[in-house]
Amino acid sequence: MTFFRKTLISIGFVLMAGYLFAQQNMVCFTIDDLPLQRPSWYDAARQKQITENILSALTKYHIPAIGFVNEDKLYVDGKLVKSRQALLEEWLAKGFELGNHSYSHPNYDNVSFSVFRDDVIKGQQIIGELGKKYNKPVRYFRQPFLHTGDTREKSDSLSNWLKSYGLIEAPVTIDNSEWVFAFAYDSVLKTKDTALLHKIGDTYISYMEDKLHYFEKESNKLFGRNIRHVLLFHANALNGDYLDKLAQMFVRNQYTFISLDQALKDKAYLSENNYFHKNGISWLDRWALTKGYKGDFFAGEPLAPEFVKKLAKVEYE
Ligand SMILES: [Zn+2]
Repeated sequence: MTFFRKTLISIGFVLMAGYLFAQQNMVCFTIDDLPLQRPSWYDAARQKQITENILSALTKYHIPAIGFVNEDKLYVDGKLVKSRQALLEEWLAKGFELGNHSYSHPNYDNVSFSVFRDDVIKGQQIIGELGKKYNKPVRYFRQPFLHTGDTREKSDSLSNWLKSYGLIEAPVTIDNSEWVFAFAYDSVLKTKDTALLHKIGDTYISYMEDKLHYFEKESNKLFGRNIRHVLLFHANALNGDYLDKLAQMFVRNQYTFISLDQALKDKAYLSENNYFHKNGISWLDRWALTKGYKGDFFAGEPLAPEFVKKLAKVEYE
């Protein structure tokens, strides 16, 4: 090999290393409350359209997302709605994995371990079968409201049982109140005020960007680097219309999209976590609290604006 060729190859390696270094930001998209967060707000055609919009944005940006299902959302008056089950099949048919988010979204702080456990078991009757059909077994569990148990005993009972049942807990680092924007969006959809819909949508994207930067900072303070993130949002009309822009925002911030498997390979997820409280918060906050961080460390977390909270018409914060 000539000296010239060797030099060219070395330069190539340096450039590649630089490129890889620039690509260090990684995020996994996790989408909760499938088939849809509030299915009864939309007719069957709209439910299908929202699902297809979400799936086409995920496909367009090559995002290996995972969807977490509440099977009780498949039923109306105790009857299985086939069109809703078909929405879940679309996720699997397009290559996405589904996880267990419990059957009826109970609040673990308000029910016993055994009641909660039975709800989780009931939560994968249909997706268990569908998973076999599409060769995508149910592997992950996401806690409703991110409530993991308000005592060590309750938390341990659940995590030990999940392990024995073959389910892996799915943590979240970029926690947010996207659902407040989504509820506001649903309310305004009924009035067809497109200017206000755009305002909510654009505010949502900048709010999520602020949240991303907030948790990047937290990650840097805790680990001295930007860890592999897990983002949470829900299956709803807002994301049906804005997921493309949300993905663009992450691309603009030099993120690559990874699966939950890849995200959890980051050693950060092995950090000690002694958070046993009622609030469902980011795992970054849990690790920080476990390490004894207080006050200023958590300052400056972005909040949903007043006009969005008002439009959402829900009790919030
Ligand atoms: Zn949920």
